[in-house]
Amino acid sequence: MTTDVIVVGGGIVGSATAYYCARDGMRVTLLEQQTVGYGASGRNVGFLWLHCRTAGFALDIARAGRNLYPQLLEELPGGFEFRPSGGLMYFSTPDQGAVFEEFVAARRRDGLDMTLIDGAEVRRLVPPIRPDVLGASYCSDDAQIVTSTVVEAFARGAKAEGATIREGVTVERLVVSGDRVEAVETDSGRFSGDAIVVATGAWTTALLAGIGVDIPIGGERLQVAMTGPQPFWIEPLVFGPNATKQYALFRDLPSWDPAIFTTPGQDRDGLVLLPLLVQRASGELSIGCATDYPGELDAHPTLAGLAQIADGLAADFPSLRDVPITRTWAGLLPFTSDHAPVIDEVMPGLFVGAGHTFGNTAGPVTARILSQLIAGREPEFDISACRYGRPLDPIVVGAPTHW
Ligand SMILES: Cc1cc2nc3c(=O)[nH]c(=O)nc-3n(C[C@H](O)[C@H](O)[C@H](O)COP(=O)(O)OP(=O)(O)OC[C@H]3O[C@@H](n4cnc5c(N)ncnc54)[C@H](O)[C@@H]3O)c2cc1C
Repeated sequence: MTTDVIVVGGGIVGSATAYYCARDGMRVTLLEQQTVGYGASGRNVGFLWLHCRTAGFALDIARAGRNLYPQLLEELPGGFEFRPSGGLMYFSTPDQGAVFEEFVAARRRDGLDMTLIDGAEVRRLVPPIRPDVLGASYCSDDAQIVTSTVVEAFARGAKAEGATIREGVTVERLVVSGDRVEAVETDSGRFSGDAIVVATGAWTTALLAGIGVDIPIGGERLQVAMTGPQPFWIEPLVFGPNATKQYALFRDLPSWDPAIFTTPGQDRDGLVLLPLLVQRASGELSIGCATDYPGELDAHPTLAGLAQIADGLAADFPSLRDVPITRTWAGLLPFTSDHAPVIDEVMPGLFVGAGHTFGNTAGPVTARILSQLIAGREPEFDISACRYGRPLDPIVVGAPTHW
């Protein structure tokens, strides 16, 4: 089948959609306002994190996405960085340990390969961690990628299948004719297609508002710092205890008490620290994340955010206090009020794949679903949780989201 598809946005969702549609024989043009990977996908920390995905849709799509990666590694030209590394969340007080014990038991009931490991094992897996660490939840199903390399690989794969990638082209508005979206107007002219795919992450709400389609998607700013290569090796993904507050899976446990997880400085100046760390094949560490909700889509780090990362991470990884920081950045993590993306044909000719909080896993699956919807096939995944038109709350500037 030959279909003209215009994909707007060169993140993991858009570049993967271009790849799957082109592989299906469609004629595809991807339009990206900056460069492929400019948005959240090029700035994220690469967790394929099943550990805290709620049972049901969120865990199912995360698992499907995580399981796609070994296959993608074989089929995408040039490869990308992927490691089936496992992941852990550590704790350092007995009260926290009791919550984690309950958490691990609940997750095992959800079918995850998770265990409670002791302090000695955490120190073996994470050499620079504080010496008094008591234990961690460890999940062998977790894995990691360098998402920018995945996006580039999808773009290379799309090109190899005949797609055209246009960088530096901003879509200014969608063009409706009758009840159908049939083109996009850009700063480089008009592009028409039988199917227009909007995969613009945190930028989506404004673009769709132009044609009266209301999909409220917020942008949570996450700040990150990167060190130079380090001499030790940390295999798993690492989350700190304060990250538990972000997840209903912890907050809903009978043993949960936020006071048990309150650490000085991890919640200040309107910023909340989601403490995490991951080591790349190069030996460099990505560390983060100070989080907040700026009114504008502003993807710049701030001194307050970087100070919070520095204080929080140096407290739990004392030897990192003096390591050189080589880069800092921020990105905008998209979210909807129910934490599921919108994946649907929103009106004839207009397909949306946006609002992904966990795009590393859900992104490639979304792309497969979109290519199936465009081809008029039954999607391989039940998307009833992601339909357009389900009730979504408006995004309130500055109001935090919890998963
Ligand atoms: C710091 C950080 C860490 C994260 N860590 C993780 C993690 O560990 N695991 C995980 O699963 N998720 C993580 N996320 C979330 C993840 O990055 C997103 O879910 C995912 O990248 C969303 O992909 P996307 O393609 O929908 O959006 P994006 O990657 O934001 O891509 C949207 C693209 O659309 C382009 N665009 C926008 N408007 C227009 C227009 N009008 N015309 C043309 N182009 C346009 C943008 O330039 C951008 O490149 C993190 C996010 C951040 C910010």
